[in-house]
Amino acid sequence: MHSPEGMRILVSNDDGVYSPGIAALAEVASEFGTVRVVAPEVERSSTGHAITASRPLSYRATRIGSLSAYRVNGTPADCVALGTHQWGKVDVVLSGLNLGFNLGHAIWHSGTVAAAKQATLLGLRAIALSVPAGAETFDQFKPWVRQVLRTVLTDDAPALMAPTLLNVNIPHNPRGLVWTRVSVRHYDGQIVPTTDPLGREMFWFTVAPVKGTDEGTDRWAVEQGWVSLTPLRLDLTDETQLANVRTLVPLDEQVAAVISPGPAPVEAAKAVQEDEAPHAMTGAVHSPTISDPKV
Ligand code: MN
Repeated sequence: MHSPEGMRILVSNDDGVYSPGIAALAEVASEFGTVRVVAPEVERSSTGHAITASRPLSYRATRIGSLSAYRVNGTPADCVALGTHQWGKVDVVLSGLNLGFNLGHAIWHSGTVAAAKQATLLGLRAIALSVPAGAETFDQFKPWVRQVLRTVLTDDAPALMAPTLLNVNIPHNPRGLVWTRVSVRHYDGQIVPTTDPLGREMFWFTVAPVKGTDEGTDRWAVEQGWVSLTPLRLDLTDETQLANVRTLVPLDEQVAAVISPGPAPVEAAKAVQEDEAPHAMTGAVHSPTISDPKV
């Protein structure tokens, strides 16, 4: 099903194109196909799914070790949108190896996960991969990255083709791989007051240890020494609550179904898109090769 050169694998991150983590990921990825690295020219950690809509972007060739790469003066999501456009055809997007786990609520802040999410918006399969923040050598993680890619990218496991968006966290010396869900019960964000050299009040956004993680979650898995693989989706609809409120507090759904059946008229759809601009761009960035975006 793939071309003679194998899978076309776009590699990005949020730590910047010169991070040792992206070089390690690109090296392992090259065993599975043709790799192109497109990443932010500087670190853009914790920028979430921001996009650059108010100025043009540059796309410049560079080198990381023996690999050729491209650096972009934009966000991780920009890199995936632009990189996919420039390469023309991409089979899978890998993001990482991020220096620092992306567990639980961190997926909201994470540029690493956002790069993978952007790929999903473009109809592509994507995997975000994170390792411990203090990691200095990456050889220890490479066999585990290889095993993750072998598990998920293999052609002879059709069921695994379905998780389009996957968030992977690899601890030190893992015992194996487990499927997990996102841990949401505890938030580890914390604000710590401090003062600047002139005595003025300032605040650090930081993290605090989280206790009592639920079994089966990403955080639980990593605490227990397992590589955590979490399939994510972009549809945030709370289906249970939607069913509840439709029953308990019915609004105008029945009338709307009668008066407004099916898709809106072209003119109405166009008017809403104009009202959305420029942020509607995220969904409007299309690679010419992509015909069926699955979100
Ligand atoms: Mn990062």
